[in-house]
Amino acid sequence: MRRPLVAGNWKMNGTRASVAELLEGLQRQSLPLGVDIAVFPSLLHLDAVIAGAKEKGVLSVGAQTSATEPEFAALTGEVSARQLIDLGCEWVLVGHSERRLMLGETDDLVGRKYLAARSCGLKVVLCVGETLEEREAGITLDVVERQLSAVLKLSGAEVLQDFVVAYEPVWAIGTGLTATPEQAQDVHAAIRLQLARKDKSVAENTRILYGGSVKASNAAELFAMPDIDGGLVGGASLSADEFGAICRAAGN
Ligand code: PEP
Repeated sequence: MRRPLVAGNWKMNGTRASVAELLEGLQRQSLPLGVDIAVFPSLLHLDAVIAGAKEKGVLSVGAQTSATEPEFAALTGEVSARQLIDLGCEWVLVGHSERRLMLGETDDLVGRKYLAARSCGLKVVLCVGETLEEREAGITLDVVERQLSAVLKLSGAEVLQDFVVAYEPVWAIGTGLTATPEQAQDVHAAIRLQLARKDKSVAENTRILYGGSVKASNAAELFAMPDIDGGLVGGASLSADEFGAICRAAGN
């Protein structure tokens, strides 16, 4: 039985004051005990959010990216997995489509970031997903398979513990368009099949999240699908009430 996970990607949003307010709002929510809940603030706000999250112990905290070098290096502007662990960070997002498409992160780079993060003990959420053009060309499953292979080929089954995949169709991110539960389930099932070719128990235990305009109003029908184990939530995670309702939908 996979424990649901709901992750909130706050992206490049917030000031110290608004982030503190969001965190307080989340701590006032009644959050389900059977669901893992993680938030991913900007690097700038990580320290404060980790300190605030510790007080209640319900939320875990992750970074939105980390470097290809796991330890220390002459790499201006980057932050390493070792530094994130030192801060008390538990998670990191790797391969978000905004970084792939706007900042030129390749499959190979994403694979190296994944390995660096795992070597320091960070839990990774690997984001994969097709663009609208790729979906319309009928190559969704090929794209997702290629993105996942870039990580699987570097990893033994032991490095895939605590592995989370987020299927995020690019055309659904921040657009208000959501994949139908059936569209999402088809891709999630294909991801699980690909994982099973690597290792059956990894496939059974890996949580596969759906991301792309998840809201309180559509979360329950998405989370009801057999291979959808929770959500990666962008815009809606900036409202404590909305995010709390999504977490509760994952607990039902
Ligand atoms: C995301 O960027 O990870 C995301 C899913 O965004 P949104 O929920 O806003 O579509």
